[in-house]
Amino acid sequence: MNFAKLKVAGFKTFVETTEAPIEPGLTGIVGPNGCGKSNLVEAMRWVMGESSFKSLRASGMEDVIFAGSGGRPARNHAEVTLTLDNAARTAPDPFNASDVIEVSRKIARGLGSTYRINGREVRARDVQLLFADASSGARSPALVGQGRVGEIINARPDQRRRILEEAAGIAGLYARRREAEQK
Ligand code: ATP
Ligand code: MG
Repeated sequence: MNFAKLKVAGFKTFVETTEAPIEPGLTGIVGPNGCGKSNLVEAMRWVMGESSFKSLRASGMEDVIFAGSGGRPARNHAEVTLTLDNAARTAPDPFNASDVIEVSRKIARGLGSTYRINGREVRARDVQLLFADASSGARSPALVGQGRVGEIINARPDQRRRILEEAAGIAGLYARRREAEQK
């Protein structure tokens, strides 16, 4: 699965619907300080199921909704859609039936988040598992945050093992085993 497109609406600085194609290979985001580069990367982590608002530099999950600025009123909801190219059919079941997979997350003030995969409402867990299997989850090494390299070098062996497991695409299997054991 490759990332193909990111669509952001009402999320942090992205008050108007903004679409960014993601070409194969390396993608760079350039722009002046404060223009929203980090916000765009956070939108990607958010739609992949990030549950910690602190790691999104917010003091509550609703803080990701456009808060208003320069005369523009605040929005009441934010929505991010990540389009995945699944032409190689490597997505886990039951999502492997189509060439394109659209994952979206929406948050409305007072109502919390809802997730959809190809238009069907799913649990946060389903989205997290989809990306865990694809080794590209919100916490995966596919997104290298500032200070992360030093963190890996200084990590304890068990923490480093978790990072390697995520990179190997087997983190989702552990999550499923934990779920099965709780049933
Ligand atoms: P730098 O080059 O300094 O790293 P950047 O391009 O990464 O900058 P961001 O950190 O993505 O910039 O954007 C910061 C801006 O986002 C700040 O001006 C902040 O006020 C704004 N911002 C964050 N959350 C919201 C929100 N909910 N509503 C409106 N604006 C927001
Ligand atoms: Mg930044």
